[in-house]
Amino acid sequence: MADIQKEILRLLNTDKVSDIAYEGANIVLYTKNKDYFLNHNGDIKQVVNEIKKRVELRAHPEIVMDAKDAESLIKSIIPEDAGLAQVIFDKERSRVIIEAEKPGIAIGKQGMILREIKEKTLWVPHVRRTPPIRSPLIENIRAILYMKSDYRRKFLDKTGHRIYDGWIRGKKHEWIRLTYLGSGRQVGRSCILLQTPESNVLLDCGINPAISSNTEEAFPYLDAPEFDINKLDAVIVSHAHLDHTGFVPYLFKYGYRGPVYCTAPTRDVMALTLLDYVKIQRMNGLDPVYEPEMIKETILHTICLNYEEVTDVTPDVRITLYNAGHILGSAMVHIHVGNGLHNLLYSADSKFGPTYLLDPAVIKFPRLETLMLESTYGGKENIQPSKKICEMQLADKIKETIARRGRVLIPVLGVGRAQEVMMILTEMAANGEFDTSIPVYVDGIVWDITAIHSAYPEFLNSRIRKLIFHKNENPFLSEMFKRVGSSKERQHITEEGGPCVVLATSGMLSGGPSVEYLKSFASSERNTLIFVSYQGEGSLGRRIQRGEKEFTFSSGKKQEMVQVNLEIMTIEGLSGHSDRKQLMSFVYKCTPSPKKIIINHGETSRGLDLASSIYKQFRTETVCPRNLESVRLK
Ligand code: ZN
Repeated sequence: MADIQKEILRLLNTDKVSDIAYEGANIVLYTKNKDYFLNHNGDIKQVVNEIKKRVELRAHPEIVMDAKDAESLIKSIIPEDAGLAQVIFDKERSRVIIEAEKPGIAIGKQGMILREIKEKTLWVPHVRRTPPIRSPLIENIRAILYMKSDYRRKFLDKTGHRIYDGWIRGKKHEWIRLTYLGSGRQVGRSCILLQTPESNVLLDCGINPAISSNTEEAFPYLDAPEFDINKLDAVIVSHAHLDHTGFVPYLFKYGYRGPVYCTAPTRDVMALTLLDYVKIQRMNGLDPVYEPEMIKETILHTICLNYEEVTDVTPDVRITLYNAGHILGSAMVHIHVGNGLHNLLYSADSKFGPTYLLDPAVIKFPRLETLMLESTYGGKENIQPSKKICEMQLADKIKETIARRGRVLIPVLGVGRAQEVMMILTEMAANGEFDTSIPVYVDGIVWDITAIHSAYPEFLNSRIRKLIFHKNENPFLSEMFKRVGSSKERQHITEEGGPCVVLATSGMLSGGPSVEYLKSFASSERNTLIFVSYQGEGSLGRRIQRGEKEFTFSSGKKQEMVQVNLEIMTIEGLSGHSDRKQLMSFVYKCTPSPKKIIINHGETSRGLDLASSIYKQFRTETVCPRNLESVRLK
């Protein structure tokens, strides 16, 4: 038994605990004594105070009520208006998951209903929201986790051993270093290795979505001398965009079986975008770099964290995720190393400004010495117009195009701007500025991801949350949005020719449905192509933005050429990234002030420009590492 487990049993001083297990950083005790399970309260609280770790007591699977009986009892206890959808038993861990449309009602005043379920059945109940839009893909993700609950239990226990077996450890020569395996002076393939004498942790592991071939520069430098997959302890995923997640399943292909930490919406969106990535690779005639089976493995090894929930990931690394304001579930990662040795914040992609759906990035942290800051829009010239102006520009351009009976194509990343644009359209419709008889087509994966948004209102800003909770108005459910599910439906839209608005992936026109629409829309001057997100160097999107007037694509063995005659517009202020002003203001307001700032995730000129401006204005040490460079923090 590990030291920390012995310590807990010594503090509890009871013979009523029969088993002790880890669930990641959480410590779970099991008892076969019903009275002790129901009346232990004070004891466990005291232990938690003493050792400062999360400890939970559960009834041993031997003494809980039979699952069938418990299910009927739960159904009779939960009020009808909670909209109970399903009851799922996690038998290995004596937990029951209750899915309801209105979790608040299922939980009851101050948890009254849950307490009753616990007392009568001895199962520990967890309530979860049923997504108001059904998505078979989301249901699949959840099924993976339930089906393999025995494996999950063992995996979580193993993860706990890795964290705690080195508990109470004093290292004399402590050091910390970061090595850039990607996203050094570039946007794309974010992947940074954090190392201490004890730990190897990856911050993100993404691909470069602007490169549509499977060449070296599309992937992070996992062949760097510092990186050894057999020593990798944990992967932390900041958010679900492919340039931060796209290479995680590759780690599993080569034997990694450790934890992947992220928020719950990130897990769900990531599963969808990764599956879509493999599909698009196949469509483009490439051999996918991993099979969908590896995406399942990735999901099976996720450990979901809420914002501001502190968790140990190794004996000397403790992380906390904070709202990044970038997309649903996006996080900045605060990392505490050693016992007060060093604190760093990995901003990943963040937006220090409000958007339709999200609150601005958090700026207050318990402690902070080093800040790793993105610089996608870090150049002096990257000043975005206000959100209001951008929304007006978008609305005007859509109205103008529809008035000349043209079609509007908005290439999107699936998650983020797609839903922002949908919200702007619902508002336009509410103000009578958009004729709701004009169809707004939401293609495939964008639709599924929108469904995930409505399943996690607690990750959205208070305005949208209020609409969903109090007014029963879910803007994502508006009837103006039409789902496009198959290539047949897509063909129907392109052939029909009437005015419409289309939201489709990929966001940089590097493959996927957006390119299919573009082929059909490109030749007519009546149509409009609107860019609302970052276009990576080398992508078709960037080339068209720069004024290329034709592009070729292969259909079968032939090469076909398409003339670009449609109107092209770029709206930068709708971006989910801070612009130059917001980056500077984030640095200014960040509390406490960091002593060192590492600039990453930006093209060379923008990164260097931001680094030198920060140094000039704040006299803070800055560095802008290239890929394969390491930065020593301690
Ligand atoms: Zn992103």
